[in-house]
Amino acid sequence: MSKKKGIVFSGARPTGRQHLGNYLGAIQNYVALQKDYQCIYCIVDIHALTTMESTLELRQNSYEMALDWLAAGMDPQESVIFIQSHVPEVTELHTYLSMVTPLGKLTDLPTFKEKVRQHPDNVNYGLLGYPILMAADILLYRANYVPVGIDQAPHLEFARELVRSFNFRYNTNVLVEPHMKATKVPKVLGTDGQQKMSKSLNNHIELAATPEETTKRVMTMVTDPARQRRSDPGNPDVCNVFSFHKIFSSPEEIEMVNRECRVAGIGCVDCKKLLAQNINKHLEPFRARRIDLDQKPEAVMDVLHDGGKRARVLAEETMVLVRDAIGLPSTK
Ligand code: SF4
Repeated sequence: MSKKKGIVFSGARPTGRQHLGNYLGAIQNYVALQKDYQCIYCIVDIHALTTMESTLELRQNSYEMALDWLAAGMDPQESVIFIQSHVPEVTELHTYLSMVTPLGKLTDLPTFKEKVRQHPDNVNYGLLGYPILMAADILLYRANYVPVGIDQAPHLEFARELVRSFNFRYNTNVLVEPHMKATKVPKVLGTDGQQKMSKSLNNHIELAATPEETTKRVMTMVTDPARQRRSDPGNPDVCNVFSFHKIFSSPEEIEMVNRECRVAGIGCVDCKKLLAQNINKHLEPFRARRIDLDQKPEAVMDVLHDGGKRARVLAEETMVLVRDAIGLPSTK
């Protein structure tokens, strides 16, 4: 494809407007990888169907997510950015891979058991086949690397095992074993200071929020619980506000908060105001780009359609080899 160091694939469910957790945990890394790798980034809308009750917001969510990705610097000139369902070959590969997957392997996966627990009224095949579809996403583009946090390593191992099973069964080497591109994914806690930042927990700060909305959210952040009054000294090491200062504030400001919090020299209100100001400053160029992009929704969709076409060319190349390796009759 290009002179870059290899192919990176990553997919994310269309969750609509992205938040700081998505940005710090994934999007920043996606942007950074583009320089050295041929990156393929996919909005995995078919995966979303497994647990979705209504699909009314699916298109809008995909669009909003693409807007955030592009505004954050994911570059369609450098990377292939597209929507999973625009490349139907992925479902074909999923079917072939399912033939080399023992059923027990799927039912034993802790993630399947967890999904059954979360959605007892909708235990569909899609939930069970989820890891195969995930593997198909990666293998279709013959990706060398998948940027994953350590918690997702078992999914990648599953994909690697599928490659070995498929290649062994059909005596081929057409499928490529992907490697983990371990990423230092910071655990970004939400405004509650307890749980991972997430839309469903409503403890998130949206990238596209206005400066006023952002400040309002930051002011609700839970601080060092031992600091009850303004005159109490605090401990920044146990305070989530300080964790964000370490990301968004200058070295001098971080040092000042670290010092002054411990001697009650700064109050939590001022500390949070400073943080909100710095987050807003950091996101200013992102927000300007996002507003600009949102003026031309058809151009954003063009990016996704063009990415889908490019992805489909790659997918079809793989599928020709896969069908041939299996021994399916040629279509020509
Ligand atoms: Fe947290 Fe800042 Fe309050 Fe210290 S002053 S407890 S770092 S919000």
